[in-house]
Amino acid sequence: MYRKAEENIMSLDCPRCGANQQLFRLEHKGYENNTICWNVYHCGQCSYTWRDTEDKKLLDRASRARWSIMQTTDPTCYPHNIPPPTNKE
Ligand SMILES: [Zn+2]
Repeated sequence: MYRKAEENIMSLDCPRCGANQQLFRLEHKGYENNTICWNVYHCGQCSYTWRDTEDKKLLDRASRARWSIMQTTDPTCYPHNIPPPTNKE
């Protein structure tokens, strides 16, 4: 059961990079009985996408795992590219 969108714990900043809401883009709205029950946002700064009904551990930067938080969006600070996984058939 989804929480109503108005009851969601919505961080004021991007959970991943800390950008403010002015850089967010609303991607989708989920409806149940003609009521919005969740929203999906996309951060224009780091390209992270999340649903506002996800657990607080994922939405709150202070509660997120340290490895999942970007300290900067400066690409020169990330010199190693992780190759995409190969599909095994
Ligand atoms: Zn971001």
